Parts: sequence; C-alpha cells; structure tokens
Amino acid sequence: MARDMLGAGHIRGRLAPSPTGYLHLGNAWAFLLAWWAARQAGGDIVLRLEDIDPQRSRPEYALAVLEDLRWLGMDWDEGPAFPAAGSGDPLPERGEYGPYVQSRCAGLYAQALQRLERLGCLYPCFCTRKELRALAGAPHVDDSGAPYPGTCRQLSEAQRAALRQAGRQASLRFHGPSEPIRFRDAAQGPQTFRLDDCGGDFAVQRSDGVIAYQLAVAVDDGRMRITQVVRGRDILSSTPRQIALLRLLGYEIPAYAHVPLLCDAEGERLAKRHHSLALRSLRAEGVPPERIVGLLAWLAGNNPARRDVTAAELVPAFRLDRLPRTDRSLDGPLMDWLRHGAPSV
Ligand code: GLU
Repeated sequence: MARDMLGAGHIRGRLAPSPTGYLHLGNAWAFLLAWWAARQAGGDIVLRLEDIDPQRSRPEYALAVLEDLRWLGMDWDEGPAFPAAGSGDPLPERGEYGPYVQSRCAGLYAQALQRLERLGCLYPCFCTRKELRALAGAPHVDDSGAPYPGTCRQLSEAQRAALRQAGRQASLRFHGPSEPIRFRDAAQGPQTFRLDDCGGDFAVQRSDGVIAYQLAVAVDDGRMRITQVVRGRDILSSTPRQIALLRLLGYEIPAYAHVPLLCDAEGERLAKRHHSLALRSLRAEGVPPERIVGLLAWLAGNNPARRDVTAAELVPAFRLDRLPRTDRSLDGPLMDWLRHGAPSV
C-alpha cells in the first residue's frame, strides 16, 4: 500500500532532473515544489541526475543543472556535488545511497532485470516502431502511451530464436499484475489504474540496450529510500507502472503528489525549446532569483503578497495543499512581473 500522506515519518524527497538541456521555469516550478514539500517537513533532499538516455543527455548540462538549482536557492543533502578545485573529478557524489547519476548504475539496473526475469515478468519484444504504430493504430508510440497489445508475449522459444537469427533486436517488456493499482495522490486525489489502461506491457529495456525510464526511476526511488515524490502531473500515468515495479523489487512505495504544470501563454507545457524561459537566459537578462521564486510561489498559492523571496524563506510556511488544481500559464502580465517586478497589490 502506498503511503497515503505527505509528511509521515522521516521524509526523503528528490529532485530528478534530466541533463538534456538547460533548466527552464517549468523545471524550476516542479523542483521548488518538491524542495519546499520536503524541507517544510524537515526532510532530506536527494538529487539524482537522470542521464539514462545517452542520445539525449549531455555531460555539459549536468554541471549547469547543479549551478542553476543552487542559483535559485535550492540545496541537497545527497547526490552529485560541485567538483573541488583541482580534484580532477568532474562530478563527485556525496551520500550513502549512490550512485546518484543514472549512467553509473548499469549494474544495479541489470540486477533488477534479473530479479524481474526470475519472477517471470519479462519477455523479449521484437516489434519494430513501425509495427507498434500499426498495432496501436496510433500515430505516436512512445513510452508514455499507446497500448501494447501483448503481441510478443506468446512467442515460443523457437519463434524467438528465429527472430533473433533474422537479425531482430529485442526490447524487454514487463507484464505486470492485472488487478488495479491504487494510490492516493496528494495533489490529484485518489487514483486507480490498471496497467492495461495505461499502455499495457511496457518496455524496461530498449532494443538498443538502454534502460527505460520506468525501470531506472523505480530502482532509484526504491534503493535511495525515497519517501515522497513531487513531480508534474504529466507523469501521473507512469506512477502505477513504477509502483508495480517497486513492489516486485521489494521496495517501499513513496507518497506521490503530481502537481499542475506550468505552461506558456498559449497553454503549452514549458519545454526545453522555450529558450527564453531557461533560468540561464533570465539570469543573463538580470532577473534576480528571488523574483523567480516569488512569482512561482505566488502561482503555487504560497506568496499572496507577491514578494521577492528566497526559496529558504518560504520553507516554514509552505503548504502543498494551497496549490491550485489547474495548470498555470505564464501570460504577458506575469512575464512583465518577471522582468520588471511584481505589480503592486
Ligand atoms: N527526469 C524526469 C524529468 O526531468 C523526471 C522524472 C521523475 O520525476 O520521475 O522530466
């Protein structure tokens, strides 16, 4: 059973950025909420770099992520640390649950795959993306979505061998429990999902050998003893998949809060392509971090006076239950606030 409240026991929250670009205001929003929720409860913060996808992650962004978090006023108790001058180590780590950088965890993910294999939950899938698109009747097939009908689950060993011989590379799919997975989300309320309704059997390892997001996150949240996950509501449907994996791997299930998203003026979720909303760009324009924090705190229902504030100043009074239920948009007046200061109340 998932913990159903944020705040029970000693809290271990986490920030899990992917170093695939510079952090933008949308990342800052989700990370600040996660940071405040843990710090307000007297909890620890674990920083984990999710650089599992070698095609999308870049080492130069890793240090930039650390710098941007620090500039915004967030600290962490465990995770990658700034290199000491002359140490030669580009990204040292501190904490007892390392590694905190996913590209350093291949052995741990391999062990988890072995365990799932022994439990009979994995099977090789030889479907190409094109075949998956045709099967799903959907234009986009990605990790978050189109239901997989289980085509390769029934293949015999002889059929698998023949496909391998024909040069087909297999991904590994997870076939989980069919009963509903329930959890209480501190921002979205009670949730019930059947895995079949959120994508069906999902990949835990891609056909090129890269470990899939769901497996890496479940293993890391589990082994790092994370008790509280605060992240964007776009990841909500991943949570039942991660809970299924956490259970089978023998880990405790964290409490979850999937927060509304920060969007641009058109209502589009902020993404790496919104370059002008990268923290680096705002910093270069001379926007002070306290103004960004003050505006995001106001959007989160936690800064009615619209003050410029540091992240630390808001910790004692922060309440996640003041968070609005709907996504927030950065419209023109809010951009003016960001660039020129808050309008008077
Ligand atoms: N690394 C993911 C991201 O940057 C976050 C995943 C998570 O919080 O589980 O979007």
